[in-house]
Amino acid sequence: MADAVFVDAGALLADAVGARHVLRGPAIAEEYGGDESLAVARRAPAYVVRPASAADVADVLRVAGERRIPVTARGAGTGMSGACVPAPGGIVVSFERMNRVLEVDAVNHVAVVQPGVSLEALDRATASAGLCYPVRLGEPSASVGGTIATNAGGTHAVRHGITRHHVLGLEAVLASGAIVRSGGKYVKTSAGYDLTQLLVGSEGTLALVTEATLRLRPRAGRSATVLTAFGSEEDVFRAVPPLAGGSSGPHGGPGPGGGPGPGGRPGPGGGSESGGCPEPVALEYVDLLAMAAIAADGPEGAAGLGGPEDVRLAALGYLLVVLEDRSASRLEEDVETVAGRLLELGALDVSVLPAGAARKLAEARERAFWTAKAAGADDVVDAVVPRGALPVLPAAARAAAEDTGSLVTGCGHAGDGNVHLSVFQPDPVRRDEVLRRLFRAAGEHGGAVSGEHGVGRAKKPYFLELEDPAKVELMRGIRLASDPHGILNPGVLLGSGRSPQGRK
Ligand SMILES: Cc1cc2nc3c(=O)[nH]c(=O)nc-3n(C[C@H](O)[C@H](O)[C@H](O)COP(=O)(O)OP(=O)(O)OC[C@H]3O[C@@H](n4cnc5c(N)ncnc54)[C@H](O)[C@@H]3O)c2cc1C
Repeated sequence: MADAVFVDAGALLADAVGARHVLRGPAIAEEYGGDESLAVARRAPAYVVRPASAADVADVLRVAGERRIPVTARGAGTGMSGACVPAPGGIVVSFERMNRVLEVDAVNHVAVVQPGVSLEALDRATASAGLCYPVRLGEPSASVGGTIATNAGGTHAVRHGITRHHVLGLEAVLASGAIVRSGGKYVKTSAGYDLTQLLVGSEGTLALVTEATLRLRPRAGRSATVLTAFGSEEDVFRAVPPLAGGSSGPHGGPGPGGGPGPGGRPGPGGGSESGGCPEPVALEYVDLLAMAAIAADGPEGAAGLGGPEDVRLAALGYLLVVLEDRSASRLEEDVETVAGRLLELGALDVSVLPAGAARKLAEARERAFWTAKAAGADDVVDAVVPRGALPVLPAAARAAAEDTGSLVTGCGHAGDGNVHLSVFQPDPVRRDEVLRRLFRAAGEHGGAVSGEHGVGRAKKPYFLELEDPAKVELMRGIRLASDPHGILNPGVLLGSGRSPQGRK
């Protein structure tokens, strides 16, 4: 009987998206079973479906709802929290065929895209209009749908804001199969609950996104990268708030046309100075391990990086500062001002990198995850704290590592208070202790379990343990209202709160 139901569901799914676009059994490639999380094992779904439209997605969800089959959306599978690992016997909805940029509207400075579009494809599509989508991740193959579902941050968030600040409208399919639209090509709305923002960061548990209207901004054109060596990690982190916070409020994206955004931020060419010091686009922390990886990349990569030898020997941490402007002379002035400010803030050495070295360093920083993975890291976490509390995380990491015989290394988006920590500890119980202490330290200092990777399966037990129970209950209520049978990505974000040791 169970087999008969199984076959029927497959046939109904084939009716929904076409038989060619329903995969099952050995036809399902391993990658459909998960993402890049080091802590959550992949699991093959019962079906992979590849819809071509919102109507297809609605049909799939109606079948899944009738059969109570769990459904997990999948973008590019670059997530770091196991959020697209399907539930047992579930359906993976892969958005690989819904990968078109539908419109680049140069008048309203928006792009309308399907969810399977990668960030790199969107960048190509907006270039000729002199515009860009400023959410820049270490992994450009990530899809727009995935970045919306995780509320991705990335390297340029210090000045340009995070995904949430750039999503103006969404089309999405609810668990019932109903297609809803919210927001649009306008930058403000005061008409009821903001469903667009509710769906951003919901990790595929409230609805499947089938179209997004995204705010674009003018391309800056010119950028400069300043590599700064500091004599201690504490000095690096102490320098971050005055540089990042010399500007307006946190993470307000610029308005279309480069005008001021919700946080009052200027657009490129629209005035990058604030409080006497130009606001960087990126403030990335690079630890000694990441720097060593760059040096190991060959003489070309190592040349000139890290300053003269005496500086390299004394340096215990680096800050990568990226500045942008459309005017070359203004950029030069900004670099000078920032370099002076960095020296005032205790830098041992400040060097403006030539374009080739800057690119190499940026690439190496973006490769940090793969370097950690190749070195045998057992987990990578991305707890976030207010910038002023940044030293708390490495301090907690050091203490926890010492007590448990673990190794913890870090690099990441220091400008956002979001340092990524690679944890090397194969024993799950000890690793759990390290993670719990890190997350607890973040929470006690006004931070959160995740800054940009999301909760997924990997951090769910910690999230449920450390978050305000009233808030978790409200989230559960919202989830129940939109998906009464709990078919959308069950086991992710909210759940019964299994023991962390059992999460692999
Ligand atoms: C080397 C590397 C560097 C990275 N750098 C960064 C970084 O700088 N900043 C950052 O924030 N992240 C970074 N990431 C993490 C990852 O790229 C992001 O989490 C990204 O948002 C995931 O996008 P994806 O398309 O791969 O989503 P997936 O991994 O496929 O899915 C992620 C979540 O989105 C849901 N989802 C996918 N599509 C939809 C849809 N259409 N509707 C509803 N839900 C959907 C899935 O169910 C899942 O819950 C990095 C990852 C790697 C491997």
